[in-house]
Amino acid sequence: MALIVQKYGGSSVADIESVKRVARRIIETKKKGNDVAVVVSAMGDTTDELIDQATAIDSNPPAREMDMLMTAGERISMSLLAMAIHAQGEKAHSFTGQQAGFLTDTRYGAAHIRDVKPERVANALKAGEVGIVAGFQGINNLGDATTLGRGGSDTSAVALAVALKADVCEIYTDVDGVFTADPRIVPTARRIPSISYEAMMEMAASGSKVLALRCVEYAQRFSMPIHVRSSFSHRPGTLVLSEKASLGSIPNM
Ligand code: ASP
Ligand code: MG
Repeated sequence: MALIVQKYGGSSVADIESVKRVARRIIETKKKGNDVAVVVSAMGDTTDELIDQATAIDSNPPAREMDMLMTAGERISMSLLAMAIHAQGEKAHSFTGQQAGFLTDTRYGAAHIRDVKPERVANALKAGEVGIVAGFQGINNLGDATTLGRGGSDTSAVALAVALKADVCEIYTDVDGVFTADPRIVPTARRIPSISYEAMMEMAASGSKVLALRCVEYAQRFSMPIHVRSSFSHRPGTLVLSEKASLGSIPNM
């Protein structure tokens, strides 16, 4: 039995039908005998919409209030996803970044993770539940909500996987993995079956939007394998891992 962290991005949970589809996929992974913890992003363009609302009030809103607002998007998706799992007959428990033990520094809007103490998530898994965690957020030493910077849920997922000692961190998106170019724009782009952390960081630094740079750095630091795959298909995706790691050790392929 493996412990798998799955992260679903905003495009995978863009509407209620998608939330239900993701719930089915999570249950499928659990029914194969795995423990599953999930990190979820805000639905669709929610984060952009929240920013638009804030800047319609003040072009330079207070950073603390901005983070308070931004963390709301992931609270919506995490609770709806937990409900969808319940509705399909499995148990799930959602957690804010704070409840999941994400401790950060105080740089509002660009906070760095200092530590992750995921006891409550681990207990949920032990109780046979799916643990659902709001991505992109934590709490600082003042007790205030912080966010990790745009696209930060990828980093939340890897950090949770490391803290839970998961076997793999699966990052679900709307393309079938990492490609030589954006397959939505370049039809001849080829999928890369596996790639080293170093090569992936070069791609992230040169503008590839598949994974946030910080997430890959974090994964490399703790040798956490990342499996990038589509939530819309069951194709194999792309493994991001150290050159020494063996592909055969990755569960749920
Ligand atoms: N919802 C946040 C954003 O849109 C975090 C994320 O999606 O990873 O940037
Ligand atoms: Mg997003």
